[in-house]
Amino acid sequence: MDSFPPTPDPAVSRKEPCRLCGSRDALLLGRTDFWDIRSTDIVRCTSCGLMQLDPMLTGEETARGCLAYYVEESLRMPVHEQGRNLVRNFRRGVHFALGLRRRGINVDHMLELGPGSGYFAEGMRRVFPAMRTTVMDVVQEVLDLNLRDHGYAGIRSIPEEHRRELDGRFDLVIARDIIEHVMDIGAVLRNVAGYLKPGGHFHFITPNGHEDVWKHRLTHVIDGARSELLINHVNYFDGKGLQEHLHLRGMDPVEYYIYGLKPRLRGRGWSTERKAFAPHSTKRPATPFVEELVHQVRQANFKKSEVLPSWYLNGNLQLLGLICAYQHGHVVRIAPRRNIGHEVHGLFRKRA
Ligand SMILES: [Zn+2]
Repeated sequence: MDSFPPTPDPAVSRKEPCRLCGSRDALLLGRTDFWDIRSTDIVRCTSCGLMQLDPMLTGEETARGCLAYYVEESLRMPVHEQGRNLVRNFRRGVHFALGLRRRGINVDHMLELGPGSGYFAEGMRRVFPAMRTTVMDVVQEVLDLNLRDHGYAGIRSIPEEHRRELDGRFDLVIARDIIEHVMDIGAVLRNVAGYLKPGGHFHFITPNGHEDVWKHRLTHVIDGARSELLINHVNYFDGKGLQEHLHLRGMDPVEYYIYGLKPRLRGRGWSTERKAFAPHSTKRPATPFVEELVHQVRQANFKKSEVLPSWYLNGNLQLLGLICAYQHGHVVRIAPRRNIGHEVHGLFRKRA
């Protein structure tokens, strides 16, 4: 619908400066409640286009809300679905690494921020058997699992924190579905650029911010209501602004596009149907999840040899690559500055 929003988004004075460009000028897009933990606004920086919570969540608030979300999701998602996700991530890793190899890019030492199960990196190792992998996460259990299941070296840290010992060590840094969650995106991208060797690559995926924020805007503009925020998406990226900032950090695009145009051609970020609205806030209490239900979460103990078909690990790589491309290849690719579609894929190269 072309007439939305019916009036221009109003200018607001921010409580905190933009974490990318430092500007104080912003437009108000929505008002939201992160569980019952924090009430905050969603604003758009008029200088760089980054959409962000203002004020930002603190580390403590993020940790509490993330745990609540993790518990809520784990109790909702059947165990077999968790297992299928591991296989999908393995295939995505194979597909991504084969794409690098086709470009003549070899990976010797890789750093993954927020590795989750570690299966994406494991898929990559199928293509680059000699690749060394280091993973960074703030949750010790994640590091323990990555060590136990894959033997990855772990660093317990948040990506905002600069670890000088990592500077210039990696030819690839990966952040899949991470940068929309970080409190200080400026610091994270500065660190990523620092950790890369000259000529090294940065790979990320992140939601198209315009689509991701859309539901909150609808609830705010049309219903005049606060929206509910359960997963801590605190940054909503503008395709053009993100690329410009990476350029400032010395990184230029090798692959940069939006994929995932289903279920509607332009993505969900244009519809004003009721189902496109974010739910009205109920200030959902986090306490039951983090203090009681947390004990019901059973971390399914997956063994790689049982999760993955055996030939995935030692069969014909060419055939595996075809299957992965069929399942996970992105046929339709849209320029991110158009801000339509679902997920942004980036592969950027640090200037030598
Ligand atoms: Zn800005």
